[in-house]
Amino acid sequence: MADVSSQAETQHETGGAYPAPGAGAPPAATHGTSAQRTADGRAAVDGEAPRVDVVGRPLPEFPEPAPLASHGPGRIIAMCNQKGGVGKTTTTINLGAALAEYGRRVLLVDFDPQGAASVGLGVNPHELDRTVYNLLMERGADVHDVLVGTDVENLDLLPANIDLSAAEVQLVGEVARESVLSRVLRPVVDDYDVILVDCQPSLGLLTVNALTAAHGVLIPLECEFFALRGVALLVETIEKVRDRLNPRLDVDGILATMFDSRTLHSREVVARVHEAFGDKLLQTVIGRTVKFPDASVAAEPITVYAPSHPGAHAYRQLARELVARGDAA
Ligand code: ADP
Ligand code: MG
Repeated sequence: MADVSSQAETQHETGGAYPAPGAGAPPAATHGTSAQRTADGRAAVDGEAPRVDVVGRPLPEFPEPAPLASHGPGRIIAMCNQKGGVGKTTTTINLGAALAEYGRRVLLVDFDPQGAASVGLGVNPHELDRTVYNLLMERGADVHDVLVGTDVENLDLLPANIDLSAAEVQLVGEVARESVLSRVLRPVVDDYDVILVDCQPSLGLLTVNALTAAHGVLIPLECEFFALRGVALLVETIEKVRDRLNPRLDVDGILATMFDSRTLHSREVVARVHEAFGDKLLQTVIGRTVKFPDASVAAEPITVYAPSHPGAHAYRQLARELVARGDAA
C-alpha cells in the first residue's frame, strides 16, 4: 500500500487549484497544525486530555463555518467508490444537508441510474420526464428545467432515474464525451457554494464525467475487511483523469463509514487506511446506525429526521471539517 499512500500525498500537494473560500477566513488549514494548535490549546487551558480521533490524532473542535457574504462559484465534489453500499449516497445527502444548514447553497447531482439520492430526498425520479439524462444527451436542454428544490432550505437536486443507464453507452460516440457533465453544470456553478455528485458504483464513463467536472473527490470507505480492495484502482483512475482531463482534480479525503466502535475490527480497518493514506483519512468517522436507513425510508436527511442523533452530529462535523480543510466553502 506504500505506493498508494505516496500517490495520495502527492495528489494533495499538487491540488489546491481552488481558491480558499471567504475573504478574511483563515487560510485553508494544513491539517496537522490546526489540529495540534487546538488540541494543545484545550489541554493547556483545561488540563484535560486532548480529544483524539479514532487513529489517535488530536481532534480539534472544527469551528462553525462563518456565514458567507456572497455565494458561488461552487466547488464540485465527486462522491466516488466503485464499490456499492459504502455510503456514497448517504454521505451525499447528509453532507449536503449539513452544509445547507450552515447556510451554504448546495446542489446535489444524482449521477446514479438507481436514483437513490433523489428518492432519499423525497423526489420520485421515475415520475419525471426530464432528468440529468436529458441534460447529458440533448443539446439545448436547460439545466434550470431539471433542477428541483427539496424540503431542506438551500438544498437543490438534479434528479436521475433509470434513463441514465443508457447514457453510459450513448455518450461513447459524443465529442468530448468525458466533459459532458462539466458542460451541463456550467450555467449553475455560480449559484451554489458546493455541488456534490453522487456517483454510481463503477469506474465507467459517467464516473469519469463526474471526475472531469470535479475539483475534488471524496471516497467513502465502509469499515469492513475488504474495504481497501479496489481503492488502488480508484486512485489510479483519479490520477489518469487528472493527468489527461482535469489537472485541478484533488483527492479531498477518505471518509470511514459504518464504523462500529465496539469492534476491534472497525478500528483495525481505519488504522490500515491511515497507514496507507495518511492525512487523506478524514478525522470525522461515520458510525454504523440503523438511523441512516430509517432516514432514507422517511426520505429525509438524518439532520432533519433525527437532528440530535450522533449520526446527524457526525455529518455536521464532516461539513465543518471540510470547510476547515478548505475543501468546501
Ligand atoms: P452507496 O451509495 O455507496 O451504494 P448507500 O449510501 O446507499 O451506499 O448505503 C448503502 C446502505 O447502507 C443503505 O441502506 C444505507 O441506508 C446504509 N447506510 C449508509 N451509511 C450507513 C451507516 N453509517 N450506518 C448504517 N447504515 C448505513
Ligand atoms: Mg448510491
